[in-house]
Amino acid sequence: MAPAATSSRSHAAQDPREQQLDVSGQNRVAIFDKQGGPVSIKDVPVQKQLKRGEALVRVIYTGVCHTDLHAMLGDWPLDNKLPLVGGHEGAGVVVALGEGADQFVKVGDRVGIKWIATSCLNCSFCRTGAEPNCPHAQCSGFSVDGSFQKYAVSYANHLSIIPDALPLDQAAPILCAGVTVYKALKEAQLIPGQYVAIPGAGGGLGHLAIQYAVAAGYRVIAIDTGADKKQLCESLGAEKFIDFKTSKSLVDDIKAATPDGFGPQAAVVAASGAAAYEQALDYIRPRGVLVAVGLPGNTDIRANVFFTVFRSVRVVGSYVGNRQDAQEALEIAASGKVRTHFKTLGLSQLPQVYDDMQSGKIAGRIVLDIDQ
Ligand code: NAD
Ligand code: ZN
Repeated sequence: MAPAATSSRSHAAQDPREQQLDVSGQNRVAIFDKQGGPVSIKDVPVQKQLKRGEALVRVIYTGVCHTDLHAMLGDWPLDNKLPLVGGHEGAGVVVALGEGADQFVKVGDRVGIKWIATSCLNCSFCRTGAEPNCPHAQCSGFSVDGSFQKYAVSYANHLSIIPDALPLDQAAPILCAGVTVYKALKEAQLIPGQYVAIPGAGGGLGHLAIQYAVAAGYRVIAIDTGADKKQLCESLGAEKFIDFKTSKSLVDDIKAATPDGFGPQAAVVAASGAAAYEQALDYIRPRGVLVAVGLPGNTDIRANVFFTVFRSVRVVGSYVGNRQDAQEALEIAASGKVRTHFKTLGLSQLPQVYDDMQSGKIAGRIVLDIDQ
């Protein structure tokens, strides 16, 4: 650990813990040893030796993303580190820096740990702003330990600076859910007044997608299920809510929600279930775009060649965002145009959160207080 300058940024602390920059006591982690769990809460020594470019972050709040659940269950065709401390929506303060890290952040800075923990910043992807596609990228809570711990070692070059006006609990879900949907909406290349359908609209990503879309002047058709999620989506500015479990024809209902009946210009699929992809290419209008965001395991997007050509539709994948996208998504949240709808629980409740997430019971996001 190199001695480091303290933050020169002035900010009114939102949480008294933001002022406690000493590294005291044990590290508290939520960890699993094998795919499928169980997840257990343990006290372990704090890792105080930092390598060049590393930063020690005192995490105060962390969001729980469905990706954390996919990783724990082993849903994807990629291997994660084991044992693994998950989490990639971490919000806290920098408490120590490795050599050279102070060119990016200072001790005391309010920072966010996002999914892309680091990237080389020197390959053709990084140089053109496609940092998530860097072949050397590391992912928080997947290839390196993430934010489900009190003291997380991360990489200074990819930490986000959390604006002073944004409380850390509000900020946490922006670090994955927020930046991901903000970037996905950019990929849709809509103009104000156009329609976007959002399957998964009542979830962590989806409820933020509604708000970034409304802020950009797009008109939102929300697709999810249940009274809680309907109420949430409508309160956030969705003009229409379609329940995918009770709709007799999703395609007809979604098309009917646009004035000319041809359907929305885009679908940003933010659902965790495979079914959400099945009809998206049928309900977007000709020349429309399907933006794939949700990551159900072992799922194909089936596109009929004739109709892809005849209807001239596009399919694009969108993978989180780069450092600038994250900073912009945070700034918009700090302005009050986007607000995370969340319930706060303790780190010790993570196993219950996973159960509720799997059964689709969570409207918006769960944010964990690391000390509870
Ligand atoms: P979440 O559990 O909070 O929300 C998912 C929502 O999808 C729930 O409200 C659920 O009811 C809804 N849903 C399920 N099946 C549906 C269907 N057939 N039609 C419409 N809605 C449906 O999950 P989350 O944290 O918002 O994550 C969503 C997905 O996005 C996950 O698969 C996650 O791994 C993925 N993700 C992708 C990226 C990326 O970079 N592309 C980043 C973060 C998360
Ligand atoms: Zn995520």
